[in-house]
Amino acid sequence: MFDYMIVGAGFAGAVTAERLARCHGKRVLIVESRNHIGGNAYDCYNDDGLLIHKYGPHIFHTNSQDVFDYLSTFTQWRPYQHWVRASVDGQLYPIPINRETINKMYGLNLNAFEVEAFLQSVAEKCPEVKTSEDVIVNRVGRDLYEKFFKNYTRKQWALDPSELDATVTARIPVRTNMDGRYFTDRYQVMPLHGYTRMFERMLALPNIKIMLNTDYREIVDVIPYREMIYTGPVDAYFDHCFGKLPYRSLEFRFETLNTPKHQETPVVNYPNEYPYTRVTEFKYLTGQEHPRTTVVYEYPQAEGDPYYPVPRPENAELYRRYEELACRTEGVHFVGRLATYKYYNMDQVVAQALTLCTRLIGMNRRDLLRTSIEGHA
Ligand code: FAD
Ligand code: UDP
Repeated sequence: MFDYMIVGAGFAGAVTAERLARCHGKRVLIVESRNHIGGNAYDCYNDDGLLIHKYGPHIFHTNSQDVFDYLSTFTQWRPYQHWVRASVDGQLYPIPINRETINKMYGLNLNAFEVEAFLQSVAEKCPEVKTSEDVIVNRVGRDLYEKFFKNYTRKQWALDPSELDATVTARIPVRTNMDGRYFTDRYQVMPLHGYTRMFERMLALPNIKIMLNTDYREIVDVIPYREMIYTGPVDAYFDHCFGKLPYRSLEFRFETLNTPKHQETPVVNYPNEYPYTRVTEFKYLTGQEHPRTTVVYEYPQAEGDPYYPVPRPENAELYRRYEELACRTEGVHFVGRLATYKYYNMDQVVAQALTLCTRLIGMNRRDLLRTSIEGHA
């Protein structure tokens, strides 16, 4: 008899499995429909010997010391600051928009104060910032909005920014200084030997069993367990009884090139041209040295693996109905990006999973995190 059946071996599933097994001695079975652990953070070496992220570029960044310390038990890190350029009218500009973006775009030479004044002069102030259009137009005006955000967002989501919650484009800050980094979090690092190696170390406990290539529905009636932790799409768990929750998907096209370096920054965004949104060159992220280089193009799709919840009011409303049902479903705990329909980064999923563990184990956060590998060796 397993204490827990955990559906999904991504961050949500792996963190809960690890803590419940290590801190509480529980017997855990992880069931994963794919042929590997790691969920969307899975990385592997391709046929050319280059380390790639199979489900698109994953850059680790967090302000949470707890999350950083917890994951540090399972991996060493490589310091990594992320840089992105956006291709607009054939030129590459820093994104997030910063002082350099504005000076280069308009042929100016403004200092930080002047950039702020410039932004104030072009911003179209709206009384209430509700949508992804509002949040950008309100800060940088319509021209920059149209050049950098409008078409990228339409391509990525098949929705106009005015149809998406402000939180989506608000992920991208606007700066008046020269800081060109994509993230400013306290911890910006990549797992030294990759994400998959980190997951392997998390799950290497005798009381954790892993069943790959298996949809949990195939075995849920034949393998006895006490409680379930579910990290797949919440609507699928309930057979879409209230209708389908929209998730946005992507198709990834990988290309290995006969050159050590392809582009000047790790990621180049293409807001206005091409059917893809961005091109990522993995060697920047992984630090790998290799005579060749692999890039990935991301093509947004309506159908396919569910990658992104779509933050907009009607979806939140539909999710609330599923959430209510989930709360009433005894013995099943819903956690992770798909199961709680939240546009969460990896660190937020780790934090959410740790919070669930404090509740299930009845331990406070500090004690939960204190039980390290050494503590139980
Ligand atoms: P997942 O990783 O999706 O894991 C859920 C698992 O459940 C999957 O492996 C799935 O196969 C399995 N599953 C589902 N249904 C079943 C079933 N019926 N039976 C068995 N198994 C099932 N975050 C960052 O912090 N930084 C980034 O740079 C970043 N980049 C991203 C880029 C892309 C293209 C995408 C899509 C996401 C990115 N993220 C990034 C977000 C990150 O991927 C997620 O926050 C994190 O991986 C979510 O973990 P999870 O465990 O909730 O879900
Ligand atoms: N975005 C944009 N232009 C850009 C970068 C981002 O319009 O150059 C918008 C777009 O709607 C995107 C959202 O901001 O989906 C969040 O971007 P982020 O890079 O955080 O997306 P993710 O890495 O999660 O795909």
